[in-house]
Amino acid sequence: MSTLEQNLGKAEQYLARFRELGVLNQIAGEAVPALDGATFESISPVDLKPLAKVAHGKAGDIDRAAQAAKSTFPAWAALPGEKRKALLHAIADAIEARAEEIAFVECMDTGQSLRFMAKAALRGAENFRFFADRAPQARDGLALRTEGQVNLTTRVPIGPVGIITPWNTPFMLSTWKIAPALAAGCTIVHKPAELSPLSARLLVEIAEEAGLPKGVWNLVNGFGEDAGKALTEHPAIKAIGFVGESRTGSLIMKQGAETLKRVHFELGGKNPVIVFADADLERAADAAVFMIYSLNGERCTSSSRLLVEESVHDRFTALVAEKAKRIRVGHPLDPETVIGPLIHPVHEEKVLEYIAIGRSEGASVVAGGGKVTGPGGGCYVAPTLFTGAANSMRIAQEEIFGPVLTAIPFKDETEALTLANDVQYGLAGYLWTADVTRAFRFSDRLEAGMIWVNSENVRHLPTPFGGVKSSGIGRDGGDWSFDFYMETKNVAFATAAHAIPKLGG
Ligand code: NAD
Repeated sequence: MSTLEQNLGKAEQYLARFRELGVLNQIAGEAVPALDGATFESISPVDLKPLAKVAHGKAGDIDRAAQAAKSTFPAWAALPGEKRKALLHAIADAIEARAEEIAFVECMDTGQSLRFMAKAALRGAENFRFFADRAPQARDGLALRTEGQVNLTTRVPIGPVGIITPWNTPFMLSTWKIAPALAAGCTIVHKPAELSPLSARLLVEIAEEAGLPKGVWNLVNGFGEDAGKALTEHPAIKAIGFVGESRTGSLIMKQGAETLKRVHFELGGKNPVIVFADADLERAADAAVFMIYSLNGERCTSSSRLLVEESVHDRFTALVAEKAKRIRVGHPLDPETVIGPLIHPVHEEKVLEYIAIGRSEGASVVAGGGKVTGPGGGCYVAPTLFTGAANSMRIAQEEIFGPVLTAIPFKDETEALTLANDVQYGLAGYLWTADVTRAFRFSDRLEAGMIWVNSENVRHLPTPFGGVKSSGIGRDGGDWSFDFYMETKNVAFATAAHAIPKLGG
């Protein structure tokens, strides 16, 4: 039996419960269907066949979940940090213990390859451990002295929060948002993406089995326009941590205005990788290929624009094209697969449409350029490279969110910077040069929240994560996460009997 066949057998075992019981909501510690009994179907991008019937939550379900989060908030917020730390580590242990199940379910639900998803659970567990260790200090503040007064600042959890996540790498992203919220002392209503809801169900179960009190973490499935909207409008929900498209971010801001929601947005990107002639071209090519074709290109920090200095442009793009052509597209559970099927036929159509747009705009396809017939007949698209593109083209300006790279030559540093900044987005940037002074100068002016110099995206959890321009508002990571999930409070103590102004005698 091949490894793929063995993996398919295991995946079926892990999926059986979803096929049988569907994906229920989790409210106040109970697995429940939607109030009106409605469901929607989740399909696998591998073969477009149904995986599970998912509870279709709406405003009433969100209200129940928000009330549960509100009633559990005082006790959870009051739990000593050391106890929250221990609980979050227990959740991390439980995630690690079910790593294979999480990986296989994620592969079949999202189309992401096992090569990358095998580590999804470990990354998720790492997120919990990182914030667990910081929970005991989350409330610490400063002592600010002036004559006759000492000010003590402290942080307190903001209250119940809503977490809204997208369909790409849903397990890892959910842990990235939920772990700091719990560590800060917030309770949660999570609304995962309708296209990949399975691993969010596993995650909340794991957390409760590991000892998280019922109702601290609630899960409501549904669509953006009903469940998502209701969550952003609910008066008991004090903040929304959102990861998704830029235009959804705008909608959430409007929806949350009435109840003055605090928002944190991690949105889209059109991230440049800028390659100067003095760079180590072989390493730069490996990194560029990794950043656009890993995770099916369905990655907010993907390097979707390749800006290359003219003198090495042809050599460099040939190198990238060669590597792209060798990338294996296939079944997500095949250990050899790099690129699996895209999330959904509608998304596949969007990506293929962009490839057609690129051609009609006059760019040349030098690798890939269309659909691939893959196992199961799902949404497979070849890793694609466009050359001869201009920055004004739609394939250079708009987020495609698939394995499509657009290469553009530049003359000099000034032009490289102009091209790099000439987009509405500003999430990440990747700079390749051997000149350290230029690296400082360029990264200083590059409009992006995160820049890697001579590297692909390697996350260090204490560093800030987030974007500028249309790519987001706010930062995650390290203490930045606590700033979002907590309120800072100042208490001023008089240290002497100072003269108080006497009004009225
Ligand atoms: P999306 O915006 O369509 O959906 C994201 C989530 O928002 C889903 O759960 C959806 O149901 C919900 N939603 C939709 N409309 C809503 C509304 N009106 N009110 C409340 N919730 C609503 O995004 P997607 O297509 O699922 O994900 C892909 C996008 O996510 C890409 O743009 C990608 O760049 C972005 N992303 C950003 C980051 C980052 O860190 N910056 C990370 C991953 C993904």
